[in-house]
Amino acid sequence: MYFTREFIWLIKETLSIEEIIQNEGVELFKRGSNYFVALCPFHQEKHASFVVITHKQFWHCFGCGAGGDCFDFIRQIRGINFPLSVKYVATRYGIQLSDDYNKKRQSQRNKDRLTFNAGNIDTSIKNDTIIF
Ligand SMILES: [Zn+2]
Repeated sequence: MYFTREFIWLIKETLSIEEIIQNEGVELFKRGSNYFVALCPFHQEKHASFVVITHKQFWHCFGCGAGGDCFDFIRQIRGINFPLSVKYVATRYGIQLSDDYNKKRQSQRNKDRLTFNAGNIDTSIKNDTIIF
């Protein structure tokens, strides 16, 4: 299974990272228009060093150094790999997986056929997708 970069970008554009993080049980405190803090769920601490920068769709912990986007968060808090975290977020928040996935798979198949006939390997297809 793979997801296109466009699909991953679409999820990030559609959903709010603070909502995804809060729904995993992390209590966020607003500190500015684009900024939340929390006690880090990945290490023990008494003072909040976990920040979420909403307009950049990014989180970071100054205590333990963990950080990333919403998929990195799900990956780490649920202990799953990146593709599963994309699938988890898409499924939980009602973003259609199947249409995009099937369409891309079909076009990938056609591309593979053309590539095979042409007798050369087009690596740009691989660069456009995340395969696992
Ligand atoms: Zn931390």
